[in-house]
Amino acid sequence: MAERLILQTPPRHDTPAGRPLTLTDRHGRTARDLRVSLTDRCNLRCTYCMPAEGLDWMPTQDTLSDAEVIRLITIAVRDLGIRQVRFTGGEPLLRRSLADIIAATTQLRTDEGRVPATALTTNGLGLDKRLPELVDAGLARVNISLDSLDRERYARLTRRDRLPDVLRAIDAVLAAGLHPLKLNTVVMPGVNEDDILPLAHFALDSGAQLRFIEQMPLGPREEWKRGDMVTADDILARLRTDFELTPVEEPRGAAPAALWTARGVDKQGTIGVIASVTRPFCGDCDRTRLTTDGAMRTCLFSRTETSLRDLMRAGADDAALAAAWAGAMREKKPGHGIDDPGFLQPDRTMSAIGG
Ligand code: SAM
Ligand code: SF4
Repeated sequence: MAERLILQTPPRHDTPAGRPLTLTDRHGRTARDLRVSLTDRCNLRCTYCMPAEGLDWMPTQDTLSDAEVIRLITIAVRDLGIRQVRFTGGEPLLRRSLADIIAATTQLRTDEGRVPATALTTNGLGLDKRLPELVDAGLARVNISLDSLDRERYARLTRRDRLPDVLRAIDAVLAAGLHPLKLNTVVMPGVNEDDILPLAHFALDSGAQLRFIEQMPLGPREEWKRGDMVTADDILARLRTDFELTPVEEPRGAAPAALWTARGVDKQGTIGVIASVTRPFCGDCDRTRLTTDGAMRTCLFSRTETSLRDLMRAGADDAALAAAWAGAMREKKPGHGIDDPGFLQPDRTMSAIGG
């Protein structure tokens, strides 16, 4: 493996009053979860996320180098109270240095003195081969996207015939004992509603935690219509044909998924529903985001962002970067506003923001 980047960890940056900086906004929410996009590129073309021809990928010189991304993660964890770092994209497995970036992250310590919790959101292609080095680097958890168990439908939906690769990745993560393995399914009208029950049975049988996701207006514009979308209620109604559902009682905190205990004739487990559109959870959001080109975003749906890359390349020191990050987070909007009459889809699509 390539020699890992050495971290320099000068002391935390405090406010002038001596209190550590946190990413707290005007509505009282404090970000503890950083989502880092490691590339905007992808080897699938999910219809709800990308057009068939792909997108205009970011030029390499615009994207953060490994040293730059590690520096920003270091500032977030060491100085700004971040406790969980999730790597996403685009497809994060396409970043060759992924293990090095994870290893540098797990060398850090949070404000509570712990190793930051690391997680990967991936389509799973090639994960079975990469997993040992990622686990060795300290990766704690994995989410794999899987929208159908039907090979033809999967191929139509992702425009690539790669379902067997994803199933191999799921087996590898389960065998490695990274628990819980979460499976993400975006449900689209007239496309994969018939996959809801087979996916639920598959997940309960394999011990993975399946989460159904309401499709959001973050892909090609013609792909989303508020009136047509499959809602959380539609998904729960489908599940109830085979399962008795009881809400999980533990407090949800900032987790996006509402969890249900699903009991079937011969199986039982937990299934989640992420109802970002019909039951928004913005009031409990604890996320801050970093795009591949170093823009800090307060929300998936932000229409403004702060280029930490430009500040960094202009010579800003760590304290100035931390202050800029904290200052911009203060302005986080109370909600995503999808249902507001004036809602505008962000200029970047999901893969360019980091989902
Ligand atoms: N390529 C990786 C993957 O597919 O898991 C990571 C990036 S992907 C953008 C992250 C997650 O966002 C995936 O679970 C994907 O299904 C979800 N996603 C993408 N576009 C979406 C949309 N328009 N609405 C809801 N979820 C979406
Ligand atoms: Fe790629 Fe993930 Fe978008 Fe699918 S959802 S096109 S796998 S980035």
